[in-house]
Amino acid sequence: MRVAFLSLGCKVNYYETEKMKEQFGERGHMVVSFEEEADIYIVNTCTVTNIADRKSRKMLHRARRMNGDALVVAAGCYVDSARKRGEADGSVDFFIGNEEKDHLVEILENALRERQGQEMKKKSEAAEREEHTRAYLKVQDGCNQYCTYCIIPYVRGPLSSKPEEQVVAEVEKLAEQGVREVVLTGIHLSSYGVDFTEKKSFLELEGKPLLSLIRAVGKVSGIQRIRLGSLEPRIITHAFAEELAGQQKVCPHFHLSLQSGCDDTLKRMNRHYSTMEYLEKLEILRKYFVRPAITTEIIVGFPGETEEEFAATCAFAERAGFAKIHVFKYSRRQGTMADAMEGQVPEQVKGERSDRLIGIGRELERAYGMPFLGQDTQVLLEEIVQIQGRDCLVGYNERYMRVAIPVGDGAEAEELCNQIVSVRLSRRGEDGTWL
Ligand code: SF4
Repeated sequence: MRVAFLSLGCKVNYYETEKMKEQFGERGHMVVSFEEEADIYIVNTCTVTNIADRKSRKMLHRARRMNGDALVVAAGCYVDSARKRGEADGSVDFFIGNEEKDHLVEILENALRERQGQEMKKKSEAAEREEHTRAYLKVQDGCNQYCTYCIIPYVRGPLSSKPEEQVVAEVEKLAEQGVREVVLTGIHLSSYGVDFTEKKSFLELEGKPLLSLIRAVGKVSGIQRIRLGSLEPRIITHAFAEELAGQQKVCPHFHLSLQSGCDDTLKRMNRHYSTMEYLEKLEILRKYFVRPAITTEIIVGFPGETEEEFAATCAFAERAGFAKIHVFKYSRRQGTMADAMEGQVPEQVKGERSDRLIGIGRELERAYGMPFLGQDTQVLLEEIVQIQGRDCLVGYNERYMRVAIPVGDGAEAEELCNQIVSVRLSRRGEDGTWL
């Protein structure tokens, strides 16, 4: 699908729009400019003033005029305030409030499938079940780490965590709806529970509130897998990893934000670890888990990043043996320290570095998965997609490898959707899916 975005208002909106773009990109959709024809137009709205409201409406109407058949989506603050006022807008197909933004991709993919329709009925039914397969649950908000490129600590308010009982109640509800896998996420998940104590930093807590939460969620029957959202590397200690490894439902997949593989760049980013410390954390995880999938995100073209620094990041990525890298080109955020730094890197250079690192990431992803060929893996099947002209059931294993199996007929597919099945991996497809 071609997806176009427009962000209005505050920096949080801009940040969230970037995240949305990333999510859509990860799912194989093409992000295009708002001036181009698209299948989905998403306006991340603002409602701070009446003028902002008017501008939000204007942009939504413009999107409708661009393509009468497109799905026009109003997301964010204007939606919440318009709902309160009981307003409706005929140009808009979908209203996604702030609370629902985390599930935007899933909601819209499902909506599009429904719209595409009756002739796709079989696939739509499978897609609906996908909603009941894996759920993302935000358990923590706010951050006090002050990375120099990030606006979040200034705009997102203080750390706040959902009480354990509330999370468990929400997970129980999800389990009743048929969800098998829950992904615990947060703006800074490692800080989960800091606000329940007098402590200033998650380091003092040694991850104990998060471990307690994971234990509690692990007791919910029906939930078969717990996956963790992005973790700050410094939360990984022997005690933390050992306790995690003792939790049967925790997936051996850890997303540890790296951001740069060069110590000087990390300092300018105000990241509080060195590349050596990061490697030590990987060693700890690899001690307690069998070939865990370590995924990460890296920013290229951070202010002052020289060719040597970038080369250090590439070499570090290879040394770390990541299973997947999300590459971001540094983008300036007004109000952050990095925005005022000298040595802003030209867009063209950022683009070239991004391409190079994405290439390295692809190769690492392949190298990570190859030793699993010929082995059985447990796949939670989510949806039906066509691969090389055949209907295939597609899902993810515990290590977040995307796996496809061909399906015979609709009845068979229906039975298998939302099931965890054992699959022997035989090869890697051109699009990176394992078969
Ligand atoms: S850890 Fe850094 S990048 Fe992440 S939310 Fe906090 S300040 Fe932003």
